[in-house]
Amino acid sequence: MERSTHLQQMYQELGISPDVYARGEEALARLRPRFAEIDAVAEYNQAKVLSAMQKNRVDAACFAATTGYGYNDVGREKLERVYADVFHTQAALVRPQITCGTHALAVALSANLLPGDELLSPVGLPYDTLQEVIGIRPSPCSLREMGVSYRQVDLLADGTFDYDAIRAAINDRTKLITIQRSKGYATRPSFSVEEIGRLIAFCKSVKPDVLCMVDNCYGEFVELSEPSDAGADMVVGSLIKNPGGGLAPVGGYICGTEQCVQRCAYRLSAPGLGQEVGANLGLLPALFQGFFLAPTVTAGALKGAIFAASLYGELGFRCVPEAGADRHDIIQAVELGSEAAMVAFCKGIQAAAPVDSYVTPVPWAMPGYDSDVIMAAGAFVQGSSIELSADGPIRPPYAVYFQGGLTWYHAKTGILMSLQRMAEAGLVSL
Ligand SMILES: *Cc1c(COP(=O)(O)O)cnc(C)c1O
Repeated sequence: MERSTHLQQMYQELGISPDVYARGEEALARLRPRFAEIDAVAEYNQAKVLSAMQKNRVDAACFAATTGYGYNDVGREKLERVYADVFHTQAALVRPQITCGTHALAVALSANLLPGDELLSPVGLPYDTLQEVIGIRPSPCSLREMGVSYRQVDLLADGTFDYDAIRAAINDRTKLITIQRSKGYATRPSFSVEEIGRLIAFCKSVKPDVLCMVDNCYGEFVELSEPSDAGADMVVGSLIKNPGGGLAPVGGYICGTEQCVQRCAYRLSAPGLGQEVGANLGLLPALFQGFFLAPTVTAGALKGAIFAASLYGELGFRCVPEAGADRHDIIQAVELGSEAAMVAFCKGIQAAAPVDSYVTPVPWAMPGYDSDVIMAAGAFVQGSSIELSADGPIRPPYAVYFQGGLTWYHAKTGILMSLQRMAEAGLVSL
């Protein structure tokens, strides 16, 4: 038997019909040149991470568990040096004590903003969870409650920066500018490192001492450089997204200037303690190894995103970004047009998972959302969205946001399975 016949049989065992498989192969044929570009970025970033690990003489002593205060934790200190070298920053704070991306961002903001200061978002409304951190939606312990005001400049209708309004918004009190790289759950474009660099340069030309922070969630290793190479004072993200490589079980990072990162460490632990405390609890092997794998894991997720856009775009569904567009993060939105299609899509993603594949996702009311939300995820690490996952609010345009896949082949299987479920429900004809 030919190899392709074996493969098709194996997919059939997983529940994917020859029709769906054939559609996938057609989409793939269109994507080979794109995949080669993604591989080239991954190769560069792999070398970048490897070089940082070698330079910092990572060795077995770095993998030892510490407990209690965690004083003199050599492994923790080297991990932070490795992150700082990869992001080309003076310093880094990379800790399992940072519970998630929102926490990392909250630490970075509250450490570097004082009462009377103003925070500016020149890229429209920030990610949902940040709205409570800032106090856009009233919340106990928000920045607003601490006397930090907030100003926002929306993007222009074509998704570009409104430079005139940004200039007008920057004032005496503007202390920190927050720039979200990824679109999150909005339909605006995600920004390239180059675009972010231009925005930072503009803001600093208006006010040279203003701090610029980039919410780098989902963007790490998608391009050859990071926003810290383009002038950001801090870049911030979650370890259960790209940089954890799927192996980090928890954590967040803040890379940036010595001064900003030191303040973050004092905020995270306590004034006077800073970076000196924080036991690693035996998690360092996973954090080092996950970071080592992160460039290729990110590449696999990117291939999955483009594959989904190509497959669903060809079937007539609006995809954001489109299959041919440049990528700046791993998120793929597909507008499916109906609740039934969202449910079928998510059932397929769930059925393709290595964990909890027997579970059926259903739309549910979630705190913080004004409509029901459906989520599909069968992850080794709870809530990990570098693993294959899909979710979306049940409201027009009925878009699912799809991301992750620890390997490209798993992402492919998940997307084919989503199409399979759509076809079985009579929602697409192949
Ligand atoms: C995921 C995400 C966050 C928050 O991260 P959590 O780990 O879910 O708290 C913040 N900003 C953006 C753009 C994100 O994608």
